Amino acid sequence: MKSRFRWYCPFLAAFILFSCSTTKKVVLDPITVSANKPGANIYHGSYTRLTDIIHTKLDLKFDWDSALVIGKAFIQARPWFYPSNTVILNAKGFKIEQVALTQQDDLKPLKYLYNGRKLTITLDKIYNHDQKFSLYIQYVAMPNRLKVGTDIASEGDRGFYFINGDGKDSSKPRQFWTQGETECNSSWFPTIDDPQEKMTQEISMTVPNRMVTLSNGALDFSSDNGDGTHTDTWRQDLPHSTYLTMVAAGGFSIVKDKWRDKEVSYYMEPAFAPDARLIFGKTPEMIEFFSKKTGVDYPWEKYSQIVVHDFFGGAMENTTATVFFERMNMTKDQYLDESNEDIISHELFHHWFGDLVTAESWANLPLNESFATYGEYLWNEYKYGRDYADYTGWKDLKAYLSFDRGKQEDVIRYDYSDKEQMFDAVSYQKGGRILHMLRKTVGDDAFFKALNLYLTRNAYKTAEINDLRMAFEEVTGQDLNWFFNQWFLASGHPVLKIDSRYDTAEKKVLVTITQQQDLNKIPLYRLPLAIDVYADDTYQRNEVVLEQQTQTFSFSVLHEPALINVDAEKYLLAEKKENKTLQQYIFQYTHAPLFMDRLEAVQAFEKMGQEKPARDAMAKVLDDKSWELRRMAVNFSSKLNDAEKTSVYDKIKSMAASDPRSYVRAAAITALKKDFKDKDNREVLQKAKNDGAPSVQKALTE
Ligand SMILES: [Zn+2]
Repeated sequence: MKSRFRWYCPFLAAFILFSCSTTKKVVLDPITVSANKPGANIYHGSYTRLTDIIHTKLDLKFDWDSALVIGKAFIQARPWFYPSNTVILNAKGFKIEQVALTQQDDLKPLKYLYNGRKLTITLDKIYNHDQKFSLYIQYVAMPNRLKVGTDIASEGDRGFYFINGDGKDSSKPRQFWTQGETECNSSWFPTIDDPQEKMTQEISMTVPNRMVTLSNGALDFSSDNGDGTHTDTWRQDLPHSTYLTMVAAGGFSIVKDKWRDKEVSYYMEPAFAPDARLIFGKTPEMIEFFSKKTGVDYPWEKYSQIVVHDFFGGAMENTTATVFFERMNMTKDQYLDESNEDIISHELFHHWFGDLVTAESWANLPLNESFATYGEYLWNEYKYGRDYADYTGWKDLKAYLSFDRGKQEDVIRYDYSDKEQMFDAVSYQKGGRILHMLRKTVGDDAFFKALNLYLTRNAYKTAEINDLRMAFEEVTGQDLNWFFNQWFLASGHPVLKIDSRYDTAEKKVLVTITQQQDLNKIPLYRLPLAIDVYADDTYQRNEVVLEQQTQTFSFSVLHEPALINVDAEKYLLAEKKENKTLQQYIFQYTHAPLFMDRLEAVQAFEKMGQEKPARDAMAKVLDDKSWELRRMAVNFSSKLNDAEKTSVYDKIKSMAASDPRSYVRAAAITALKKDFKDKDNREVLQKAKNDGAPSVQKALTE
């Protein structure tokens, strides 16, 4: 993994800039999907499979002072299809001590070549694909000695991390943990770095008695060695990709929970363990929710979550053993500001999309990451309602739009210049929003049935984007190349100019939409959308399909409407420019039902803040059910005149004291200090000193 790309959090991903590859004109085949873009000279498909690893058994000891992994690997494998006497394994920076074939209890030495990156083994004979063989490799892995720039591309590629290994840093606990994605697990055990390579495994680790260990699957047994160490053996009997293998050890406290009859556990540093349930306690409910939503019960032996020290990115969805960064070590006060729940739901949803069904190549990474990102939305929608979920969806849209200005990349991209570049706002946030559009396009029933079909058909296997399309086509009975081609296999997004007007003579609403994106680089989109026309105290929904560069839709309406609400479901991944008046936005704020309806209106009020009706409308937003909109309204108070300030003062003062969301209380305190400093705020500011939220304390001291 290039950990800097692993920032799961949308706000972080939005600020990561990547080098651009040349944008090429996208020519879309209407029937079949071309893997390579015409004219592109790079093509990264799936890796060729020569050998299939069936099972890996590792026996690991550790030299903490020298940061060494001392390993014995037993690998059961077979040729993938064609007969062969050669096995090529990835193994970065090892000292190879022995390579042998195991036959009953005997070891038969084998010839091998090792170049510091690959171990090429010559077997004793040619094997057919139905003939298994078992290899024994004794080795020492030296992850800290891998040189950045020559052996590995970055610090994030070491694969195995000793934290304060020699115990000399009193500020850090002694731990180790691993990070396999993308192709880094071969820094600590010989394997095949290919997401298609799925295997079962058994890992034994010998560590000091004061430490606990974690790996994939279930703890099979633990034995005390009588020398101050113990050996734990973990087994996973269900196959998963080699990049998802993990080990960790350290002085963690384990808090145990349960989902149905399966163990759910939280590994935390002892100081934070008392708050483990506050931070991770919704996990069993999430597992139940995702099991029901997908129709596929959580398919693994257990689910553990571990918070380690100095983790590079946000979190990693190692099968049954997700690793999190230190920011999950939260106090109760910090939790008032950020629950980090989106990270928890993201990694958990990967256990269906990523771990159970895995993208077969890095080019198809969105099959993992777009789903995990959309998993956050699904959980938020279920737990906190559509209004809040739409707020998080809007944050994803914003993250993608601000990122996309720097580059135009296909979502599924066979022409990436570096596989680590796949971990970006296109694979995550844009992909998540595309799945939301797919859901709105085919309907909830079809969407979740298709996900179920995709998951069950490809369980414990890998998939590419066409497998997803085929599942949707089978369920809906529709050809969906148009959707998948324009969204998953092309770059950019629609830029829509929307002009709505009422023709009094004809008694008709006319909506003209122009697609203004650069059609040399970006597709002309086919966009089903709803147009709601509000007139005579009711509204009429019109379902239309935009498929031309400029298209006019007309609807008969007896009287001039108060509002024409285009994209009424507010689901389009697009930039929109509309010609609505302030009065129409005021109507939209009070009558249209969705978070995005109100957000669009509030953004318009901000822009038109010099007009009194906009300022009056903004005062009403102080009571909005969305905390983000309330915060925007509080921040707007600096633009009010004296009389208006007086009229909202009591409201803002009460928000500083008791708004349910800490960020709104903090914004209100900042407003009181800046925009209402002539008033007597002493009591409320004094009281806020008892508010535990860090954002409130920051606002008080700034
Ligand atoms: Zn992810």
